[in-house]
Amino acid sequence: MSSKIKPCPFCGSTRIIAQQYIEDGRLKCENCKAEGPYLGTESEMAEAFDAWNRRAKVLDMRIVAVIVMLGGIVLALTGIIITLRG
Ligand SMILES: [Zn+2]
Repeated sequence: MSSKIKPCPFCGSTRIIAQQYIEDGRLKCENCKAEGPYLGTESEMAEAFDAWNRRAKVLDMRIVAVIVMLGGIVLALTGIIITLRG
């Protein structure tokens, strides 16, 4: 388990709280209210933190994918403009 919780995968906020109810709890982003995995026993809590951090990593990959896609669109548009002018 990582000791430090990563920022929210949806809004990037670092205001992540572990909300504890009577029988369970959840990791929650105070900014956009996104909820993470279930927190129960101590081992489940460790798993919930890891799961939250894994999702943060997934977002990083999505950002890379979007940047690559936008780069592709720019190249395609440049090609169309050059074709139209030629
Ligand atoms: Zn958030």
